Amino acid sequence: MPKILIVGGGYAGFYTAWKLEKQLGKGEAEVTVVDPRPYMTYQPFLPEIAAGSIDPRHALVPLREHLTKTEIITAAVTKIDHAAKVATVTPVVGEPWDISYDIIVVTAGSVSRTFPIPGVADEAIGMKNVEEAIYVRDTMLTNFDEAATLPKGDPLRERLLTFVVVGGGFAGIEIYGELRSFASHLVSKYSQIDFDEVKFHLIEAMGRIMPEVSLKTAQKVVAQYAERGAPIHLETQLVSAADGKIELSTGETFESDLIIWTAGVMASPMLRNTDLPTEERGRLTVQADLRVKDADGNVVPDAWGAGDVSAVPDLSGFGVGGFCVPNAQHAVRQGKRLSKNLIATLRGEEPKDYFHKPAGAVAGLGLYKGAFQKGKLGFTGFFAWLAHRGYHGLAMPTWERKARVITGWIVNFFWGRDITSMEAVLTPRASFEQYASRPKPKA
Ligand SMILES: Cc1cc2nc3c(=O)[nH]c(=O)nc-3n(C[C@H](O)[C@H](O)[C@H](O)COP(=O)(O)OP(=O)(O)OC[C@H]3O[C@@H](n4cnc5c(N)ncnc54)[C@H](O)[C@@H]3O)c2cc1C
Repeated sequence: MPKILIVGGGYAGFYTAWKLEKQLGKGEAEVTVVDPRPYMTYQPFLPEIAAGSIDPRHALVPLREHLTKTEIITAAVTKIDHAAKVATVTPVVGEPWDISYDIIVVTAGSVSRTFPIPGVADEAIGMKNVEEAIYVRDTMLTNFDEAATLPKGDPLRERLLTFVVVGGGFAGIEIYGELRSFASHLVSKYSQIDFDEVKFHLIEAMGRIMPEVSLKTAQKVVAQYAERGAPIHLETQLVSAADGKIELSTGETFESDLIIWTAGVMASPMLRNTDLPTEERGRLTVQADLRVKDADGNVVPDAWGAGDVSAVPDLSGFGVGGFCVPNAQHAVRQGKRLSKNLIATLRGEEPKDYFHKPAGAVAGLGLYKGAFQKGKLGFTGFFAWLAHRGYHGLAMPTWERKARVITGWIVNFFWGRDITSMEAVLTPRASFEQYASRPKPKA
């Protein structure tokens, strides 16, 4: 039985494995997924997790629960020697070991791409993983708690109540809008804090935001954010964030305790430790049928790639530089196409090219606020937000997870979002340790 090794169980990897489970005949192949996280993360829900509108666990799909015929290994693939068909797997505890495979599927996704700006590596946080979203939510709540006990005008109070997002792409605009909405809700619960005291800044180097929507829709969003007390600094660069002291290219300076970096992604750096071919941006080179190809355009046998980690040609003509943009719309569909193509080659049939025309864009910009774009039709407001929730509620994989997310929204509709900070989980033994009896020192 051929052994298929899937590196990464996110969007593309999860869908590949899920569909393989359904489509492979008995005894046709053995599938293993290796991922350091035991779950697939529904990343479009991270902004709503950060704003307390979705329970963090509900936006995760546990691999062992939903991939019942696949072997799951919770560890990272740290090396691939495709010539020898061996991958090195490194667990959190214990020694690394080698797995041999017949076919490899690389779906290791992307990581936040940063620039060497002072302070960013030490002070900022990304918005790619669930723990980052949880941290942002808890920090915002804790900052409100702490600021409320300080006198007005205290510089620390101002710093605690200043929130910065860097990057005006989809992820940045969504997290910014959700946090603004969250902060407005919190102001109504904290009698000690006024709306005007809570400061928001989004920093974007380009002259516009959200390239996925039309310029008109993007400009509308900028104007609406300004009205909501969430200015967007266009054509502005972050010069320094050292010690939380923000310096902008416009000369403006202020301090912030929460800096969220969303200015781009890059293919998983794990690829650097493989003999698989990559292009100048570090992505795996694949052809339109998702088989890996080398620099001469020849197929690399038994190697496949999909999702953010791969440079997949966009045959619809909508791609940037001719390649699919890194988004879930593509990753899901590529995962599905990859599983079909892989099975076709196992059965001696021809794989088909991946083709997907962008289905439009929906963004959540805070509770009851959204943006929608499909072709020339673009609008913002309540119905766009409804489209966002409707689309993502249904796109969440598995009925079990959809039910958890949607019932959470219904509960929130009646009782509001949960505003309890769980930051204390970072020091879970503190209380126990404080009162624990210790042996008396020997006389
Ligand atoms: C805040 C936010 C909002 C977004 N909103 C949207 C949206 O509204 N619409 C949309 O279409 N897209 C959206 N996206 C983009 C979308 O989520 C990504 O494009 C998509 O997740 C890419 O899928 P993937 O399978 O390539 O990577 P991922 O889903 O990131 O999965 C990669 C997996 O590989 C694993 N991995 C990494 N390294 C290794 C290794 N060495 N060994 C083994 N496993 C490894 C990771 O743990 C992860 O589970 C959003 C992204 C973010 C961050």
